[in-house]
Order: sequence, then C-alpha cells, then structure tokens
Amino acid sequence: MSQAHGYAALSPDQALVPFSFDRREPGPDDVAIDILYCGVCHSDLHTARNEWQNTLYPCVPGHEIVGRVRAVGSNVRDFKVGDLAGVGCMVDSCRHCPSCAEGEEQYCENGFVGTYNGPMFGGQNTLGGYSDHIVVDMRYVLKIRHEGNLAAVAPLLCAGITTYSPLAHWKVGPGQKVGVVGLGGLGHMAVKIAKAMGASVVLFTTSENKRDDALRLGADEVVVSRDAQQMAAQANTLDFILNTVAAQHNLDPFLAALKREGTMVLVGAPEHPHPGPNVFNLIMKRRSLAGSLIGGIAQTQEMLDFCASHGIVADIEMIRMDEINEAYERMLKGDVKYRFVIDMATLKGAA
Ligand code: NAP
Ligand code: ZN
Ligand code: ZN
Repeated sequence: MSQAHGYAALSPDQALVPFSFDRREPGPDDVAIDILYCGVCHSDLHTARNEWQNTLYPCVPGHEIVGRVRAVGSNVRDFKVGDLAGVGCMVDSCRHCPSCAEGEEQYCENGFVGTYNGPMFGGQNTLGGYSDHIVVDMRYVLKIRHEGNLAAVAPLLCAGITTYSPLAHWKVGPGQKVGVVGLGGLGHMAVKIAKAMGASVVLFTTSENKRDDALRLGADEVVVSRDAQQMAAQANTLDFILNTVAAQHNLDPFLAALKREGTMVLVGAPEHPHPGPNVFNLIMKRRSLAGSLIGGIAQTQEMLDFCASHGIVADIEMIRMDEINEAYERMLKGDVKYRFVIDMATLKGAA
C-alpha cells in the first residue's frame, strides 16, 4: 500500500475536504501515475452531491487525469517510468463480455469499473483523480502524444471522448450541418472536434454572452435557444445534434431542428428527467433520439491522437485544489471558460 492524498466528498451536502487513503502497490499489469492535472467534469459534481442516487462515500472524484508514470509492473511494456500517461472514466471492465471484446468497454455487460465511485469486481470503491497518484491496469491507461499544454489535455479524457465517440459513431463529416447544445466543458470540445471532422457547426446556447467564444472555438452559427424565432429558423436543417446540457430541459425544439432521419444524441445526464419528447417530433420525420456513454479505450486513444494531430486541447482555467468547492458553484452558474483543471502541485499546500 502507498498513502495517497486528495480531496473527498464525505456526504452529499458538505464541501469537499482534504482526505488521505491507501492505494494498492502496482501489481504485474499495473501502472502507477503521479497526477499532474485533473479536469473538473460536471459528473464529478453530480456524483459528489449524490444527484444520481448512487454515490459511495467517501467519494474522491476526478476522471480527466494526466500524469507521469512513477512505477510499472513486470508485465508492462508500453509505459516506462517518466512517460506521460492519461486515465479517463474507466479503470477496468470484465474483459470478456461481447462489449469488452468489441472494444466498447464502457458498455461492459458486467459493469465497467469507473475511475471513481466504481466498485471494483470484489467490491471496493474506486477513488479518482483529485489526488496525488493513482494505480491503474495498463489496459486502461492512455498514451499522451500532445507536446506541452498538458493541463489543457486532461479534459480530453472525458469531455473529449464523450463528444468524439458519438460524432465518430454517427459519422459526422464534411457536407453535414451539426448542432451542439450547451457550451460547457463537453460542448466546447464538441464544437472543436465536429469542426475538425469537417462539419458545419451550429452552437445552441442559453447564454447570449458566449456567442463570440463559440465563433472563435469554431462554430459557424450561434443560436440562442430561448429565442423562438432563432430556433424556428433552424427547423428541419440539421443532420445531427449532440446535446450536452447538464440540466432538465425541453428536447422538442431541438428535435424539430433535425432534418428527416436526423439524430439527436444525449450525453448530458441531468439529475431530473427531461419532459417529453413529443413522439410526433420523431415519427413525422423518422427522427432518432439516442444516448451515448464516454467511449472505449481504443477509441479514447484514437481521439487523443486525432486531437494531438489537429492541435486540439480544451480551453481551461487552472485552479488550486483548495478552490474546488468554489469551482463547483461557478460551474453551476455556467461561469467557466470552458473547463476547470486542478493543478495537482497545489495539493501539497492544501491537503
Ligand atoms: P458543464 O460544463 O456544466 O456544461 C453544461 C452546459 O449546459 C452549460 O455550460 C450550459 O451551456 C448548459 N446548461 C446548463 N444548465 C442549463 C439549463 N438549465 N438549460 C439549458 N442549458 C443549460 O457540464 P459538462 O461537464 O460539459 O457536462 C455536461 C453533462 O454531461 C453533465 O450532465 C455530465 O454529467 C454529463 N456527462 C455525460 C457523459 C457521458 O458519457 N454521457 C460524460 C461526461 C459528462 P450554455 O450556457 O451554452 O447554455
Ligand atoms: Zn466526465
Ligand atoms: Zn465486459
């Protein structure tokens, strides 16, 4: 065992506090990583506050991890001490069900093991990246090929793959008009990635003041979704919509913006269910409403390499570990451009 230091939620309604715990010694297949940076995903907040009614406490969130390898087990060939390494939302899965066999470990039929709040097959809760180091089986560790700007690479490990995966699965590309709903952590990555895939991008936002940023990030058009006239102008025009909104909202105006046979994919996972949708918005134009969960390990590597070759990273605001509670409050107000990343070097002073 090695002692780890981090920040944990101890109950749903209390601020995160410094917390020490044990990590396993690296086994033969393990990579031990000193964490340099960890992104702050809205899922961290949903989980810390038990908004999905499944949180195990103490809860150490964090699944957008970039760090340096501090030790490797005897079977590990692809990583050596000192290498950069990434860890996303998953640290294990059953490895033999059909989904695992097809490289879609996030849909593991026996339940993937989340980087945090993911009981290992054996029962022990996993503790995530708001900490100084982590030990992960080599099969779930990613190569980081970006040169520099490592803090801004961290959000790719969740926000990047969660948006890349559906965009790739539904074959978004040149000649298509793609909508992105919500300009937050996921949404701003979706704009960048959809643009790099060659699509024309329409950003739907509730925040008029994000218009200039959306255009700078790569959107071709910006629509203020509360404005019925602007929404009506988009009716029947979009091939695909990626909806990243973290709160309950009416899906129908967005479905109405899809062309015949268009698809809207939900990746936002709000605490309360969306109302509707009106089935006529689906059946009258053979439209689809779908969902998508992060992405498999091979596809996460593909996304990291795609982003490295296209010069894509997140737009971030670096925070100290002891600023995490304030960061959660700001995230709820939409006051983040566009992802908080914790500089883990600040943990020493904070813990
Ligand atoms: P975030 O940074 O807080 O962004 C969410 C955006 O949603 C906000 O910036 C805002 O955009 C919009 N929004 C918020 N409240 C709204 C409301 N009441 N009505 C309309 N729009 C609203 O969150 P995130 O980290 O990107 O995560 C987004 C969601 O995805 C969360 O629910 C998270 O748990 C989920 N998630 C899912 C997966 C998956 O695998 N499916 C993976 C990661 C995260 P505007 O200001 O532009 O309107
Ligand atoms: Zn996440
Ligand atoms: Zn499986």
